[in-house]
Amino acid sequence: MADDTRDNEQSSGGPVATGTVADAPKSKLPRGVVLGKDGKPCRSCTSFADFKSIKSSLVSHPHTTTPTVPPPDCPPDVEALGRSSWTLLHSITASYPASPSPTDQSNVKQFLGLFGKLYPCWVCAEDFQDWMRENRVRAESREEFGRWMCEAHNGVNRKLGKREFDCSKWEERWRTGWGDGRCD
Ligand SMILES: Cc1cc2nc3c(=O)[nH]c(=O)nc-3n(C[C@H](O)[C@H](O)[C@H](O)COP(=O)(O)OP(=O)(O)OC[C@H]3O[C@@H](n4cnc5c(N)ncnc54)[C@H](O)[C@@H]3O)c2cc1C
Repeated sequence: MADDTRDNEQSSGGPVATGTVADAPKSKLPRGVVLGKDGKPCRSCTSFADFKSIKSSLVSHPHTTTPTVPPPDCPPDVEALGRSSWTLLHSITASYPASPSPTDQSNVKQFLGLFGKLYPCWVCAEDFQDWMRENRVRAESREEFGRWMCEAHNGVNRKLGKREFDCSKWEERWRTGWGDGRCD
């Protein structure tokens, strides 16, 4: 979880029980672990490595290495959830009509409003809602909507210190496939 400013910040608030991984005491929470609104470590707000480090901090495992990605049949961490979500969001822009009706436009605005409220990583959701307040959804055409989504994703990339994506290439990445034919 790269949004360090709120790492463990929640721990000053809600009640935290003790004992198991899910109930790790707040004073022992390793850096990077974000608490959920229930005061317990939030899996979908935290990277798998950081989530696992709660257990390591409670129980000593001298000769084991910590895997950095969750097994495929485990609940997603913040990164797996993010990759899947961006795939859905960009794919929605890719299948959006080139010339959308007023209803199409209204539907995506409603969808993104709810998406921003329901996104399971609550710190991500709050920042995304803030970003959308300052950058209203633009969806008068597929091209405009695809660019808007690319800018939204770049907003998160910047926050996380990741490289920005070249938005002139959003359609090749998410709709048509690359010009070299490797997606065909
Ligand atoms: C709404 C939202 C908010 C999030 N907020 C946070 C947060 O606050 N903190 C946090 O730790 N994680 C957050 N995430 C998750 C984060 O954005 C990444 O998904 C996660 O870190 C995994 O990153 P990744 O490097 O595997 O690639 P991702 O960023 O998931 O990108 C997946 C693929 O999309 C393509 N891509 C990258 N950038 C763009 C772009 N601008 N336009 C089009 N395509 C692009 C690339 O091919 C890339 O491989 C958020 C995710 C979402 C959906």
